[in-house]
Amino acid sequence: MGPFETTEACSQWKKEYELPFEVIPDKDGTIFKRLSNGWVPYSILVGPDGKVVLWESEFQEAGFVAAIEKFYQEAAHAPAQTQQPSTRAMPPRVGRASGANIVILGGGVGGLVAAHHLRRALSRRDSVILVDRSPNHLFQSSLLWHAVGLRRTSEIQRPLSDLTRKGIEFINEEVLEIDVSSRHVRTTLQMIEFDYLVVALGAQLRPGEVEGFGEMALNLYDLEGTRRIHTALNAFSGGTVGVLVTDMPFKCPAAPYEAALLVDSFLRKKGVRGRSEIHIYTPEHQPMPIAGPAMGGAIAGMLRTRDISYHPLFPFEKMNPREHTIVASGGEPQKVDLLLAVPPHRPPEVVRSSGLIGSSGWMETDPHTLATEHEGVYAIGDVNNIRLANGKNLPMAGVFAHSEAGIVAERIAAEIDGRTSEASFNGKGSCWLELGGGKAGFASGNFYAEPEPTVHLYPAGRPWHWGKVLFERWWLHHWF
Ligand SMILES: Cc1cc2nc3c(=O)[nH]c(=O)nc-3n(C[C@H](O)[C@H](O)[C@H](O)COP(=O)(O)OP(=O)(O)OC[C@H]3O[C@@H](n4cnc5c(N)ncnc54)[C@H](O)[C@@H]3O)c2cc1C
Repeated sequence: MGPFETTEACSQWKKEYELPFEVIPDKDGTIFKRLSNGWVPYSILVGPDGKVVLWESEFQEAGFVAAIEKFYQEAAHAPAQTQQPSTRAMPPRVGRASGANIVILGGGVGGLVAAHHLRRALSRRDSVILVDRSPNHLFQSSLLWHAVGLRRTSEIQRPLSDLTRKGIEFINEEVLEIDVSSRHVRTTLQMIEFDYLVVALGAQLRPGEVEGFGEMALNLYDLEGTRRIHTALNAFSGGTVGVLVTDMPFKCPAAPYEAALLVDSFLRKKGVRGRSEIHIYTPEHQPMPIAGPAMGGAIAGMLRTRDISYHPLFPFEKMNPREHTIVASGGEPQKVDLLLAVPPHRPPEVVRSSGLIGSSGWMETDPHTLATEHEGVYAIGDVNNIRLANGKNLPMAGVFAHSEAGIVAERIAAEIDGRTSEASFNGKGSCWLELGGGKAGFASGNFYAEPEPTVHLYPAGRPWHWGKVLFERWWLHHWF
């Protein structure tokens, strides 16, 4: 009740609206201040154990319905606490009237976007279930800022459990098996049946495949690695920094170059750049080969300007932690004091063991619909492999996972609604290239163009850097 209500007014209100719960006065506004955003009161759902399970400053019915349904499901599966896999009670599959079950594997870029689009497009009868082994969504593009101390850990990730407020059910478990013929997914604790499945499990990083990685290299591509890189850079007083790409393919083709440029900025600011060398070692023949020679030449030029040594065609073979060297096959050992490395990328083990890998070694889909050969099963983002007209593969990048998620969501929603969708992924994408010192470049292209992708690089400047910062802010606010 508002701050001016009396006990009598509250009783009248309760009687008039036949409310089954107590209505209490809030004369000095204490409750309002605690349970509102200062203007709109929160809607709060309290569980049988007295714990708040859902609160939001708007009232989204879908979120509340999903949370209440979850109570009933959990009550029906009370013994599930015994760590035995259980089969989740699913609505029968007879079209929209009784609801469809859409399961999304992975809460990274692709899974997060697909879940939101589907939740918005579908009726409350349909369940949108997202499974991820991590409790958090990590905005990976910001890992490079994290590595040079421009972001704190809490600033670049968000709890996936927040999605329940939006009517998306989140299951924080490891996916252990995907059975496309009997149409279920097995996780650590349960079997989840699906009508539609979106596989968005990304690429699995496998530093363990490189002997000595743990002793000598810091992983440029994960949160713990970038945290350690920042600590190491703070302690660095001069020497050789190496940025190494151990294997192909790897996600975000620009990231190793951005990392070297950011490290350059960091060391200049620290006053130790004069006593340091920065080297990039990569098996590629030029930076971002998929974007063509002009883009490669432009990035190589930026590296030269900053006195960063570039070693293309470096077929990495091994690291030797005792001597602090890295070696390319048939090459001389290269001494590195601080090694930032991109580990080998492989398809997720569960995708491989479930027999969903195609001849490319990754999941294969129609390049426009993202549908796999299995009915109602789609694969988006880094886990899939899309062959381009020039015989190369579409790069692994968030920008593509993002667009693909929208296409798949629209197609699934249309099918559930009995409509036909013409939504088609067009291979277009753009990305910022962070240069350090508050500047960035911007590249935009059509990767489905024939015979070669067409990519345009815009002149570098401060506005692009701010564009990247704003996109990060938007991303972490918009989806959570
Ligand atoms: C340092 C860095 C910088 C980058 N910068 C950019 C950029 O500027 N622009 C850009 O477009 N892209 C960038 N990327 C790439 C981009 O982040 C990825 O391409 C994108 O995240 C891929 O999305 P995805 O949904 O396919 O997979 P991911 O986002 O990797 O999500 C996969 C999810 O699946 C979960 N998962 C995996 N296996 C299991 C399992 N068995 N059970 C349960 N859950 C599982 C993971 O926990 C993860 O949450 C960058 C990446 C890095 C590392």
